[in-house]
Amino acid sequence: MTDVRITRCPRCLAEDISADAHPSRRLVGGMPATFFVCRECFRPAELEFQISCEGANIPYARLPIRESLRLLRGFYLDRQRDTPDDPRVTAALSEVERRLLIGPVERASRLDA
Ligand SMILES: [Zn+2]
Repeated sequence: MTDVRITRCPRCLAEDISADAHPSRRLVGGMPATFFVCRECFRPAELEFQISCEGANIPYARLPIRESLRLLRGFYLDRQRDTPDDPRVTAALSEVERRLLIGPVERASRLDA
């Protein structure tokens, strides 16, 4: 028997992001660090990161799409280890892997498109 472990969005503490995560960043000790938020929190989290970068004189750049996908793959692989029977995680992981394969020919697409 497997307990489905819920991974809550660290920003709103409400949404379950186990199978729908979005990699954003925040400054931790003055260094950019990845953290995964829900769909709703993604834009505000990026904006907050941008503002804190400006405040700390750190150049802000959007995360490249392939880097985002690689981070997501790592995230879902961890979730899959935790809950190997969760079909949502398996589906999310295969979607990320599909997008990584087609990545080089993908137009400047948005991660949350
Ligand atoms: Zn959230």
